Amino acid sequence: MYLFSVLEHPFKSMFITRKFEFSASHVCARPELSPEENRRLYGEAANPHGHGHNYVVEVTLRGEPDPVNGMVLDLKQLKDILNREVVEPFDHRFLNYEVAPFDKVVPTVENIAIEIWRRINPRLGGSLHAVRVYETPDLYVDYFGGEVK
Ligand SMILES: [Zn+2]
Repeated sequence: MYLFSVLEHPFKSMFITRKFEFSASHVCARPELSPEENRRLYGEAANPHGHGHNYVVEVTLRGEPDPVNGMVLDLKQLKDILNREVVEPFDHRFLNYEVAPFDKVVPTVENIAIEIWRRINPRLGGSLHAVRVYETPDLYVDYFGGEVK
């Protein structure tokens, strides 16, 4: 028995978030700088041998539940997009050497969030609201799209 019909649902717009993880290595260093300059800028993260993180990502979509199926977006479809566009290419990779554009763009947590947005946004029909990436339990960034110079 339905307590209310979806069409009478009081919420106009909702946020739905899927959380997932991947593990990857990176070096935070700019190739045009000397090792000393990179160490000054990025600290231990500039170690050329790299180090790893267990990244936790939260992707938030905004929308209205479909009047027929009651969902903002098919969650199976969302999971498939996240696996194909982010988890499979990033998981257990050395980002600087194996994942474009991080051969040219320093893979800071900020730039990783931007790249995840860039990869998944075209597949989400305008519903993407935020990409949150935790590099450690104590540090995360939120990216809401738009140009970052
Ligand atoms: Zn790091």
